[in-house]
Amino acid sequence: MLLLSMEGGELMSFTDQKPFEVTEEHIHQAWSGGKDGKYFRCGLCGHKFKPGDMCRFVYMNSTPDSHFGNFMTCEACDGPDIRERRIAWEQEARTRFWQMMRDYQ
Ligand SMILES: [Zn+2]
Repeated sequence: MLLLSMEGGELMSFTDQKPFEVTEEHIHQAWSGGKDGKYFRCGLCGHKFKPGDMCRFVYMNSTPDSHFGNFMTCEACDGPDIRERRIAWEQEARTRFWQMMRDYQ
């Protein structure tokens, strides 16, 4: 699903990977296929987004060593090394929590 909004008269999309402010409308949309914002959470800390938060889409598909793909990040977790931290998080999940993650190996 491609989420679009109008900003400054131009058609904008969250997939531009620029930070945006979460609105009431955002939290009810089907992010990652989860109805009513069920999966609209930070891909690193798990924060469930609420109106007024800053949020950013991070493109990870086709990234070597990444198995879980694209995700959203909160402002607190975001940074220039976010992809590296996400990969480390994935590796920890797959090794330390292997029993819970075995269907995603
Ligand atoms: Zn976070």
